[in-house]
Amino acid sequence: MEEEEGEGEEYLFKVVIIGDSAVGKSNLLSRYARNEFNPHSKATIGVEFQTQSMDIDGKEVKAQIWDTAGQERFRAVTSAYYRGAFGTLLVYDISRRSSFDSIARWLDELNTHSDTTIVRMLVGNKCDLETLREVSIEEGKALAEAEGLFFIETSALDSTNVKTAFEIVIKEIYNNVSRKVL
Ligand code: GDP
Repeated sequence: MEEEEGEGEEYLFKVVIIGDSAVGKSNLLSRYARNEFNPHSKATIGVEFQTQSMDIDGKEVKAQIWDTAGQERFRAVTSAYYRGAFGTLLVYDISRRSSFDSIARWLDELNTHSDTTIVRMLVGNKCDLETLREVSIEEGKALAEAEGLFFIETSALDSTNVKTAFEIVIKEIYNNVSRKVL
């Protein structure tokens, strides 16, 4: 029996968040998934993920979003973390230039562990810290353009663009996958 198109279809995509320690990866995820912000850096180590659903074209699309949960402090983000990922958020802190400089290394690591079809979003987090800004929006945009990444600035603290950042990635993954199916 043929399956009716669009009926009961389920989508579940893995998305990984990467970037230096303390750029706000955990808080971006907790802001998106639970609308929570934690002002204290957590010390817990171990990979964590949250599953979040969104509606696209009347279909329920789920994203399983993974946070390194501190593994990067020991340069211990393993290939298992990247395995099966369809999308990634590469996060830096706009008030810490070194975290922006590290993006090149994170891109190298991503290229080692995933294929070129993975959807990539460059995220300049902590845009609420305008007075402490060390990386301009133009620099972020230029890097994104040069590397073929989406780009957005966010604040997990005041919620600016957090939902948008994740949803652009999830929609793009969905569009790529559904184009392939058709
Ligand atoms: P991670 O190590 O990359 O997961 O970073 P965390 O999410 O643990 O955040 C590190 C620190 O930065 C914590 O003290 C957070 O409260 C703070 N932080 C995270 N996001 C923001 C933000 O958007 N704005 C500001 N001002 N602080 C943030």
